[in-house]
Amino acid sequence: MKGKKKYAGFCLGIMFIAALYFTGCADMQNEGGQKGNSSSKAEMQEELEVHFIDVGQGDSTLIQTGDHAMLIDAGENEKGIDVKEYLDSQHVEKLDYIICTHPDSDHIGGMDIVIDAFDSDMIFMPDLKKDTRTYDEVIDSAKEKQEKIHYPKVSEEYSLGEAKFTVVAPNSADYSNSNNYSIGILLEYGENKFLFVGDAEEESEEEMMGNDMDLDADVYKVSHHGSSTGTSEAFLREVSPDYAVISCGEGNSYGHPHAEVLNELRAEGVKVFRTDEQGTIVATSDGKEIKWNMSSSEDWVAGEPTGSVAGKAKETMQSYVLNTNTKKYHLPDCSSLEGMKKENREERKATEEELKKEGYSPCQKCIGD
Ligand SMILES: [Zn+2]
Ligand SMILES: [Zn+2]
Repeated sequence: MKGKKKYAGFCLGIMFIAALYFTGCADMQNEGGQKGNSSSKAEMQEELEVHFIDVGQGDSTLIQTGDHAMLIDAGENEKGIDVKEYLDSQHVEKLDYIICTHPDSDHIGGMDIVIDAFDSDMIFMPDLKKDTRTYDEVIDSAKEKQEKIHYPKVSEEYSLGEAKFTVVAPNSADYSNSNNYSIGILLEYGENKFLFVGDAEEESEEEMMGNDMDLDADVYKVSHHGSSTGTSEAFLREVSPDYAVISCGEGNSYGHPHAEVLNELRAEGVKVFRTDEQGTIVATSDGKEIKWNMSSSEDWVAGEPTGSVAGKAKETMQSYVLNTNTKKYHLPDCSSLEGMKKENREERKATEEELKKEGYSPCQKCIGD
């Protein structure tokens, strides 16, 4: 939620109270108070739960309110059973909507099992066919259940009980990269908003920002597992979330989440949750406030690419604070910076590799080996 809006609401509230006060009529004050409550659009009958299911490297999000449920993605092939069992544990009997954000296996791999196990009213997919067994399995399962595939268009609106969602992406029909075909939705429940954009990269983000839609959200499901190919600074400012959730696997080979994205989120004061560290994360909204089943992650440690791309994290440009006297480099928030003499302090955007070449070594406290 943007600070400006909150502030404007607060000011109106103060003016309203002041107006009541100056009328000096106690009855009217009571009436005004009650009226204010009952007419509030955020007075919801149910709660909305958003479950960011831990599927390792991949995505799967269950949204539930009352008897209504929808699922966005279902992780890799081998996670299908886990996702089905998770839905069982939450007493899901039927899915109003199934969204396959895009045909990559870390999103639709497990979806055939979900489609086999649960009836659904509608299956969404972007208009992109992929020549993979994974894709064929999903299509076959849908055919088997006689479910029609719907290719949603931007600005279409759907209701889920008292909640509703609007399609915000994809805005074009052709992309060179399958991630940019990702279906994006803005989910609204009372005053609370959640933005999901699959693996959308900068090209799709630009389009979302370019077509006058309100992308402002309380919770941002971070694009592409926290990869620096998405979540540009401009996009993050537009969304201006209070909370962000990153779905990725511990020790994934891509080094997700990337330091650039974590740094941006941190700089914007966003509270971050991550499935690689915290497992399945659940947010609950009453239409006004969002509560979480755990505290946000505090360590801000980026992933380390493994295998053939090992050591790439060390090549990532970052802001460091150097102590020119002790020849140590620190992260900007390291507690040992407090006592550092001004004349020894130097700020630098560099890679660890470069700093080491200059004879610097990492602070054990904030960076380690
Ligand atoms: Zn993905
Ligand atoms: Zn992808």
